Amino acid sequence: MLQINGLSVRYGPVTALHDVSLNVSAGEIVTLVGANGAGKTTLLKCISGMLAPATGTVSLAGESIGGLPPEQVVRRGVAHVPEGRRVFPGLTVVENLTVAAYALGYKDRQIAEDVAYILDTFPNLKRRAKSYAWSLSGGEQQMLVIGRGLMAHPRLLMLDEPSLGLAPILVEEVLHVVADINRRGTTILLVEQNASLALMLAHRGYVLENGRVALAGTGAELLKSPRVMEAYLGGVEGGAEVGA
Ligand code: ATP
Repeated sequence: MLQINGLSVRYGPVTALHDVSLNVSAGEIVTLVGANGAGKTTLLKCISGMLAPATGTVSLAGESIGGLPPEQVVRRGVAHVPEGRRVFPGLTVVENLTVAAYALGYKDRQIAEDVAYILDTFPNLKRRAKSYAWSLSGGEQQMLVIGRGLMAHPRLLMLDEPSLGLAPILVEEVLHVVADINRRGTTILLVEQNASLALMLAHRGYVLENGRVALAGTGAELLKSPRVMEAYLGGVEGGAEVGA
């Protein structure tokens, strides 16, 4: 579904991504792990059109989307939920969901159906449907921004650090929701610092180091990789190395 080849991105003199190639197949959850500054957010921004690549190609189902503006990328079926849980604090849960859909030009009836579907998917949000977004907990706000991403009917949903700053029990809850959305048919590209849970969930994963793909493999292979264990899981217990 998503194919990235030879992607490089620069911020002035800083090269944040060097010759990155990766792919995401329809139906997969693919996880990107990497230390702070490895280039994970830059990669997502490049896919969603917030940044233009210096070199390389990004294509979705065979169509080039590299360098398209964000509104065109979202219309082609890619939703990006950035890190930081940016809800509209003075709007209610339902208003937060509808505002994005109006911006995309959906009609009232479709929007009402989509909101009902999302509230059914996230029972916590259903309970808070009329609450202002500022009054939600961190976990509820995360569900809300994921729900808002789903209002665009994405084929590919990209999530940047959805568990950041959440209590461990909420981390599991959010990642279970991600798995559930995937089971209902949405392909997922997930950036996560919580490498063990995210790789357990993933069909495949990539490790980014200093803007390069350092390792790639199935979630299970990466979990067993000594390099991943040492850098992201807090220890080495042996196991086979996997290739980039
Ligand atoms: P984090 O987990 O901290 O968000 P990341 O893996 O998402 O890290 P990026 O935010 O993509 O990494 O950053 C990759 C590199 O690009 C880093 O060296 C960072 O300092 C640099 N960088 C990111 N944004 C900018 C910017 N707006 N201007 C200059 N350099 C930037």
